[in-house]
Amino acid sequence: MSASAIAAGVRNGDFSAVEVARGALERVEALNPALNAFIDVFREEAIARASEIDRARASGERLGPLAGVPVALKDNMCLSWGRTTCGSRMLARYRSPYTLTAGQRLIDAGAVVIGKANMDEFAMGSSGETSFFGATRNPHDHARVPGGSSSGSAAAVASGMVPVALGSDTGGSIRQPAGLCGIVGLKPTYGRVSRYGLVAYASSLDQIGPLGRTVEDCALVLEAIAGVDPNDGTTADMPGPALAGALDEPVEGPVIGVPRQAHDSHNHPGVVSALGGAIDAFVKMGARIVEVDLAHVAHGIAAYYLVASAEASSNLARFDGVRYGHRAALGPGEGLLDLYCRSRSEGFGPEVQRRIMLGTYALSSGYYDAYYNTALRVRRLIRRDYDAAFAPDEGTGAPACDAILMPSSPNPAFRLGEKSSDPLAMYLEDVYTVTVNLAGLPAITLPGTPTVVDGVALPLGVQLIGRAFDEARLLRLARMLEGAG
Ligand code: GLN
Repeated sequence: MSASAIAAGVRNGDFSAVEVARGALERVEALNPALNAFIDVFREEAIARASEIDRARASGERLGPLAGVPVALKDNMCLSWGRTTCGSRMLARYRSPYTLTAGQRLIDAGAVVIGKANMDEFAMGSSGETSFFGATRNPHDHARVPGGSSSGSAAAVASGMVPVALGSDTGGSIRQPAGLCGIVGLKPTYGRVSRYGLVAYASSLDQIGPLGRTVEDCALVLEAIAGVDPNDGTTADMPGPALAGALDEPVEGPVIGVPRQAHDSHNHPGVVSALGGAIDAFVKMGARIVEVDLAHVAHGIAAYYLVASAEASSNLARFDGVRYGHRAALGPGEGLLDLYCRSRSEGFGPEVQRRIMLGTYALSSGYYDAYYNTALRVRRLIRRDYDAAFAPDEGTGAPACDAILMPSSPNPAFRLGEKSSDPLAMYLEDVYTVTVNLAGLPAITLPGTPTVVDGVALPLGVQLIGRAFDEARLLRLARMLEGAG
């Protein structure tokens, strides 16, 4: 059932929140051993929370828009109960003293947290394989990856364990796994959702957002979690988007931009037809398709991996074996420097270490201008490309785009292990997602036409990118495309 149907049913008394929670927990128990989507499951807490909702209903209280809806949270989100591991040995026993703003808002809206979802270590990865707690598997083919880094959130939603989950997206970690698992994933505008209580990867890029099976469910969740937060100075003080209600108003004669760069010769043939299918669907709905030129996206991967690694090297410096996190046992005669080195070498996996070293190098004096500053300049040029696409061009007469349409990744789900020994091949899976984070824009991935590989139908995602803080229009366009498919 969808989140909206569950909430309506609980409010009407068609079924109880406890029944819903039990159903979700049973499904997790049945499917999780094969999928490894959850790091921790909160059985007692979930039932207790669901009983509170049922009691509130019985005493005539008004229930929230997500009453009784089971949700999963990616395990880089702090809760005041359970542990917050970030998929890392470093934080395998870490307990947060507080709950993240976005999670608290979900709980206040009536959601029931079922558990913490598996993820690539510290959200670094595109396959779900770098977790200290083992790889997550794709529900459509257990020999394949679900995508990452919100691997568990995507697999849990796609396999029907929960209707919606929260993920975080720094360079595609909501949209790419949503695409590979055949569900909907929304990265909000930078500043739309509070990052308070999200363990930072790259602070200028990170954003929390929903994964769900329908556009409506993602809108419902976004509505609940969005808005200014005094604990995150980057949140925008803007009226929250009224989304779910206005979703079914179609955008009249929309202009959809398709970047020339989206027709890359490296795209898998299935990706080519999924994109073509989405274009045809929009044409049938009366959209005008225009070609746009995002000339600098070619440098997106390079700029992103420099900016993200630089910020990560700084953010992850706090894990030093002293205050919290993994602490190495020292031998006789070993001192503070050994404690730092050994704790970090033991606590972080190879991909996280690679990012920290890459970022530290890019920020070091002598290389700062050549790498980090150059990446920031490319970042500004990428933002300018998007701004141009969203503005009418007086010179050529090209209209302003309502949204930009692209694949969410260049390939369907690959086999476990297929790209693990080739970091660059893994990074290239992010070619269609990272520039959106560099520009701070909202984007949503929807299921496109699946492709058959080795006799198995594998999902593929198509991505719509919108104007900053115009999630309302983006979601209406997404709803149109969903309805057409
Ligand atoms: N795959 C990208 C990375 O490894 C994006 C991850 C993310 O969005 N958290 O950095």
